[in-house]
Amino acid sequence: MFLSMEHLNKTYSGGKVAVEDFNLEVEKGEFVCFIGTSGSGKTTTMRMINRMLQQTSGTIKINGEDISQMDPVKLRRKIGYVIQNIGLMPHMTIRQNITLVPRLLKWPQDKMNERAKEMIKLVDLPEEFLDRYPSELSGGQQQRIGVVRALAADQDIILMDEPYGALDPITRESLQDLIKDLQTRLGKTIIFVTHDMDEALTLATKIVVMDGGKIMQVASPDEILRHPANEFVENLIGKDRLIQARPSITTVGQVMLKNVASITPDRLLKEALKLMHDRRVDSLLVTDDGGTLKGYLDIEDIDYNFKTATSVGDVMHNDVFYVKSDSLVRDTVERILKRGFKNVPVVDNHNRLVGIVTRAALVDIVYDALWGEEDKKDDSEDTATASTTVDQGGDAK
Ligand code: ADP
Ligand code: MG
Repeated sequence: MFLSMEHLNKTYSGGKVAVEDFNLEVEKGEFVCFIGTSGSGKTTTMRMINRMLQQTSGTIKINGEDISQMDPVKLRRKIGYVIQNIGLMPHMTIRQNITLVPRLLKWPQDKMNERAKEMIKLVDLPEEFLDRYPSELSGGQQQRIGVVRALAADQDIILMDEPYGALDPITRESLQDLIKDLQTRLGKTIIFVTHDMDEALTLATKIVVMDGGKIMQVASPDEILRHPANEFVENLIGKDRLIQARPSITTVGQVMLKNVASITPDRLLKEALKLMHDRRVDSLLVTDDGGTLKGYLDIEDIDYNFKTATSVGDVMHNDVFYVKSDSLVRDTVERILKRGFKNVPVVDNHNRLVGIVTRAALVDIVYDALWGEEDKKDDSEDTATASTTVDQGGDAK
């Protein structure tokens, strides 16, 4: 086992029992979320893993090696720690921020420079940014740098204690997507503390539910939703989510409508208007020639700019909310409903537009969840009949 915790107990000096007989096995590459109410022992458990706290009894092993026997420097090379809601250091450049931990671990300068370049590339920001200060970047860009900073020292295990707790829900979701994507790509093992069940369900491969210092349940998100171990877990999940548990293995790709009205940025606005008119839609998705999603265009944009702007690219919106075709409906349904969009574009792993999810399709999903019919085929062609989507080659394939 990669990381194992056996019969861990922690009693603070005043006599407070914070953690009681905690047992957990974690494999390499897992994303483990500790969830529980405040005071349930999450932070205490996490801090024992990197020896910031000494357990009262019990054993923690990494690759079979007892960490209490390990050289502290070696341990810090293996385990990273990201504290609650910490931003970038304002007086340090982006490079210095990213290489903060590598510097503490005394990496050679050229290795740090290489690493900084690699990291900034991971979040699609230009290398020039490395020598800027945080205040010269947008809030969103700073947040993304914060995420890669946690990965920069290349430690095997990263401990994150409510890193996104103070962020607004939309920002938090985009950082969740980012950390999950990077964690998978880089094969990191992450232990992540949260008190937000949505966050745990989105991120975790394994959820550890804690209450009063004890483990209530250890299971995958699916398993937790289908078989909550007790009433405490059930309440934590909430009734709404238990309803959503049924179609939990359905992917967005299975329910999306495949034929989407799309147009390229170089086309004229009058062509866009004609396309909308022909197809009876009030908005178009914009893709490049390769089918990569670039943005969208609303009828209103044409109204206001028809005389001055000439091409779609001049007036289109570049910020488009989309979902991935292989993501689970369970994870996306709330995001879509929360934003109140009529429909949301769906992209493949190369950001190519492959379809659209309509609110009508979501009605079907929620209906199925409530009334059963588990083996009803989710045929995208007849799942939704929204009048806003049309047959126009948006599909890259
Ligand atoms: P969580 O992170 O789940 O909110 P903690 O691990 O921080 O919970 O705390 C678990 C329990 O231990 C709480 O009851 C808390 O009040 C108590 N506790 C935490 N730190 C200390 C400490 N240094 N001394 C005494 N009690 C503590
Ligand atoms: Mg805590």
